[in-house]
Amino acid sequence: MILPVVAYGRGILRQKSKDIDKDFPGLYELIENMWQTLYSADGSGLAAPQVNLSVKLFIVDSKEIYDNMDDEDRLEFFSGDEGIKETFINAKITEYSDEKWIEKEGCLSIPTLSEDVERSWTICIEYLDKDFVKHSKTFSGMTARVIQHEFDHTEGKLYLDYVNSLRKKFINGKLLKISKGQIKPKYKMQ
Ligand SMILES: [Zn+2]
Repeated sequence: MILPVVAYGRGILRQKSKDIDKDFPGLYELIENMWQTLYSADGSGLAAPQVNLSVKLFIVDSKEIYDNMDDEDRLEFFSGDEGIKETFINAKITEYSDEKWIEKEGCLSIPTLSEDVERSWTICIEYLDKDFVKHSKTFSGMTARVIQHEFDHTEGKLYLDYVNSLRKKFINGKLLKISKGQIKPKYKMQ
């Protein structure tokens, strides 16, 4: 089932979400629905607050980005993996590298906009997968970028928080339209 995506301006996108346990009702179905929603919206990541649930859960697919790149771009944007397709539960980023890089990011909750965002090149993260198996892993490049973006959603943060104030002023009109529901993407929003 495709779930409606919460748009910029809704309070849930600014809440810090809560940990979940195995007994969370309908967890497998929720994760399945989130994947369907992600693909219907042509995104590379989706976090539970974006489907109106304030819980620490997000999904990342950087594999599709990798698959659609030529070899030169793969060398530039990926390091240590060929893209991942993974579910992250109760994730905690334990380390951010000092090495940073800037790249454009978009967000399904902020349709039609994309802005330059500085992120760490490498991160260490502890998380549970969909079967509640614990992992402690290091990711770099584009995969680390998508993870940081989605993790931020579970902390109530948006990529806009990293955009400089001048640029923010410039896009403010569009943000207002999104929050009023006047800009509508092809996928379902609420
Ligand atoms: Zn987002």
